[in-house]
Formats: sequence, C-alpha cells, structure tokens
Amino acid sequence: MIRVGLGRDLHRLVQGRRFLLAGVELEADRGELGHSDGDVLAHAVTDAVLGAAGLGDIGALFPPSDPKWKDADSMELLRIAFGKVKEQGWRLQNLDCVVTCETPRLIPYRERIRASLAAALDAGPAAIFVKGKTAEGLGPIGAGEAVDAEAICLLEKIL
Ligand SMILES: [Zn+2]
Repeated sequence: MIRVGLGRDLHRLVQGRRFLLAGVELEADRGELGHSDGDVLAHAVTDAVLGAAGLGDIGALFPPSDPKWKDADSMELLRIAFGKVKEQGWRLQNLDCVVTCETPRLIPYRERIRASLAAALDAGPAAIFVKGKTAEGLGPIGAGEAVDAEAICLLEKIL
C-alpha cells in the first residue's frame, strides 16, 4: 500500500529570531516567529508524513497551548512524529518540498537541508528534494514578512 501526504505552513518573519529550515540555520536579518523554534519546513514535512499515515497533524500531536512545546526543536518534533509513522509500518519513498521567501536564497543551504531531512526520515538524500522560490515581491511573502513551506510525501507500508 502507498499513500501520499501534503503539508503546508507559514510563519511570520521578525527581527531577533533565527531563520531555520529543517534545523539548518540560514543567515538572515529576520527569522520565524513561533511558539516552537518556528521551523516552517520541519512543520510542513511533519504534517505531510502524519497526513499520509492518517495520524492527524502537528497541532494535535504537539498543541501550541502546551508549554512543553515552547521553543521546541522542530526537528525533534519531526523525529517523534515520524517515529509514530514508522511504528505503523510506513517507510518514506520520497519527499518533495517548496519553500517560498524573498530572502535569503536557499540554494547554498539546499544540500544540508536535504541531509537533515533525510536523517530524520530514515531516507537517502536522493529521496528528498527541496526547491526555493520567491514571491516576485508580491504580498506579505514578497515584502519579506513571511515564509511559506509546502511538502508532499509518498509513504509505503512494508509491514
Ligand atoms: Zn509552523
């Protein structure tokens, strides 16, 4: 059996916060605002794998109302979520992601981001791809006020 999953997330960008994508810190003058560390890509990927396995979503698993998750490492949340996915017999076939922000450019960080996701998802980097886009100066993303991430994954049940 195979199943697809889709995840999407958006975070406001503000000064004095780190700009994290899948645990990799990008050099930027603003970073993601959030209850956790705000890692927009980690959150989108977590929702994609949970959705594919029919295990709910990141908000249900790690409620923002719970102080336990304040400033949480979102890659740790992804590892916990994917552990539940694996317990159900699922393995990742592939993951494809799009991150949209005006700055910084993603390309210099792409291989590190792929490797970080691959390690968290028990996959080879070849199974994981991440694309960077801009919003062509349009809307809040184009104004540098937000970053958006989308992720789609394919899981295969092996048990
Ligand atoms: Zn988020």
